[in-house]
Amino acid sequence: MNRTRLRNRDLTMQFVDETSFYNRIVLGHLLPANLWDPLPHFIQTWLRNYLAGTLLYFTSGFLWCFYIYYLKHNVYIPKDAIPTRKAMVLQIYASTKAMPWYSLLPTVSEYMIEKGWTRCFSRADEHGWAMYSLYISIYFVLVEFGVYWMHRELHDIKPLYKCLHSTHHLYNKQNSISPFAGFALHPLDGILQAVPHVVALFIVPTHFTSHLVLFFMDGMWTTNIHDCIHGDVWPIMGAGYHTIHHTTYRHNYGHYTIWMDWMFGSLRDPIEEEEEGDDGSKKRK
Ligand SMILES: [Zn+2]
Ligand SMILES: [Zn+2]
Repeated sequence: MNRTRLRNRDLTMQFVDETSFYNRIVLGHLLPANLWDPLPHFIQTWLRNYLAGTLLYFTSGFLWCFYIYYLKHNVYIPKDAIPTRKAMVLQIYASTKAMPWYSLLPTVSEYMIEKGWTRCFSRADEHGWAMYSLYISIYFVLVEFGVYWMHRELHDIKPLYKCLHSTHHLYNKQNSISPFAGFALHPLDGILQAVPHVVALFIVPTHFTSHLVLFFMDGMWTTNIHDCIHGDVWPIMGAGYHTIHHTTYRHNYGHYTIWMDWMFGSLRDPIEEEEEGDDGSKKRK
């Protein structure tokens, strides 16, 4: 009993050391020490997640928009499909408003990890590299499954759609979707769609830093799938698929891969869509 308690205390200390280290790196580079150092640990962690999320959103959004709409003008996207500045400003406004709330999720998740309530472990080599890879693969499948069903239910349960998810579907044409739409959701919608990352921690032993990296990578991915450029790399569910989701409302709920939509019968392929469009004989389902 004592040994278990001691082990839990060591684990807690390891995680607190780690989160404090990340707080120092991000906050120490962005803010004067007297502004963040006196704050309680939980608030420091929230502030770090908030600043890191905001930085990620604006950096990836602006760089990507500059590249596809300016540097590669008319290469990837036809001129009449480039979103208006007004649409992008509205998406930035919705995202900025929701960001403080989104940041609560990783903060609460880190709190639970520090308390030793999850199955997180601290050192990547703790279980050996083979087990590490297996655990990360299971984590990935759980997130794919969770995001798919969370997103699908946000459509199928009508009050949820009306009160939460419809905010994101204000953008329903190619020329109204931009990389900035990725975070333009009702705050609770954004949190619910990211919850599978936290639930997975209670099911599968997960390396803490890998979880954080995967969580923030999700943010980058969300930006990417709203650029309307179809990459056509199997089995990736890229922007071509997500554009269809925004126009039909009942296909392609998935996240990184097409597998969940394929398994649960909601997949719609962008190539097939184009062929049907050219042919003109078949109508969209
Ligand atoms: Zn949707
Ligand atoms: Zn979307």
